[in-house]
Amino acid sequence: MIKLVGVVGAGPAGVAASVMLKRYGIEVLLFERRTIGGLLNNAWRVDNFPPLDPASGEDLCKMLKAHLERNKIGVMSEEVTDILGRTIVTRKAHYSVDHAVIATGTMPKRLASLEVDSRVVYEYRDIPNGTRTAAVYGAGDMAYDGAIRSKLAGMKALLFARSDKVRAIEALRTTAAKVGVELHMKEPILKVEAGMTCLSITTPLGVYSVEALLICIGREVSLPVISSDRFEIVGDARGDIFRQASIAVGEGIRSAMRIASQR
Ligand SMILES: Cc1cc2nc3c(=O)[nH]c(=O)nc-3n(C[C@H](O)[C@H](O)[C@H](O)COP(=O)(O)OP(=O)(O)OC[C@H]3O[C@@H](n4cnc5c(N)ncnc54)[C@H](O)[C@@H]3O)c2cc1C
Repeated sequence: MIKLVGVVGAGPAGVAASVMLKRYGIEVLLFERRTIGGLLNNAWRVDNFPPLDPASGEDLCKMLKAHLERNKIGVMSEEVTDILGRTIVTRKAHYSVDHAVIATGTMPKRLASLEVDSRVVYEYRDIPNGTRTAAVYGAGDMAYDGAIRSKLAGMKALLFARSDKVRAIEALRTTAAKVGVELHMKEPILKVEAGMTCLSITTPLGVYSVEALLICIGREVSLPVISSDRFEIVGDARGDIFRQASIAVGEGIRSAMRIASQR
């Protein structure tokens, strides 16, 4: 009998699963190590989440938070390290559940050699306040989105890419050009040095002074240790190459329905 489900991660997938489980009368323990909304907190503009009007990622995260509150689902600010049988282990405690939904999303592919200090970040929301010039490293949607958002927030934005192959969708490329993102294609970042006020970025073509560096060169699945046969993985954490908020929501809902059908 499934009466209590532990949901790990309060991004779109985890929120959708939690609310749907609640609708089936199943109690939920929802764990989140950072903030409700997950990766969506970084998105400049989401315009492919039908039937919602285009909205910023931050606004969508507020809606997800309100959705949880309306359904009286609290969030436990704890990082889950292990799922062992029916036990969810966090850094603070152990919780006994009947089943688990793992909605832990992805983590960035890192470039450790460039991580010279805290001004080198992997998510837009971690760019320090007061930054006036930001460099972004990458050529995909997330990099372009970050560069556009930086520019619209009043920063000078320089986008560096290893090759001239742009993987971002046309709409983001057009917007980047329109808002004046400075493109440095075929300019891999070779070195970053930390100064008192600036980071110094070296490429084969020059040395640039910026105040923050956002690295967006891809993401990979992020999972706790799992030793259990009573779990489902949903959303970006499944490792699919197609990663979108609406897909994550759909998977969260499907997972809840599957769990409810097993009762
Ligand atoms: C810049 C940017 C722009 C985007 N634009 C769009 C867009 O326009 N349209 C669109 O549909 N999608 C967009 N996306 C993608 C979308 O944000 C993701 O596909 C979606 O957020 C995935 O949802 P998720 O719930 O699977 O994972 P996530 O959103 O990654 O949420 C996972 C959550 O789990 C938490 N967590 C992880 N591990 C643990 C743990 N061990 N214990 C507790 N908590 C944990 C994390 O802190 C996080 O909050 C964008 C993403 C980015 C970065």
